[in-house]
Amino acid sequence: MGVRKEQMYCRHEDKIVLAERNTPNHILHLLLTVFTFGLWLIPWFLMSQTSRAHFCPSCGRQADGMWLYRKMEKKRKTEAFKQKMEDARNRQAG
Ligand SMILES: [Zn+2]
Repeated sequence: MGVRKEQMYCRHEDKIVLAERNTPNHILHLLLTVFTFGLWLIPWFLMSQTSRAHFCPSCGRQADGMWLYRKMEKKRKTEAFKQKMEDARNRQAG
């Protein structure tokens, strides 16, 4: 089993992390497939599906893609802008 690291976003801590993902040992799986006359293809396939998730190294929970970070940034900026407009309006009124 190897470990692959990738820059991802952790929504639980609201920060960018170097998330880790376990990569299956393909040579071992290939050998097992040969020895079991192809039967091992089923568990190999299932394992490759579950090991696709990345996990945050600091909190251990599943990390999200950078797309979510960009989405959150956009939302934050929109909210900050709205707040600024609101403040300006209040200043004018008061
Ligand atoms: Zn985290």
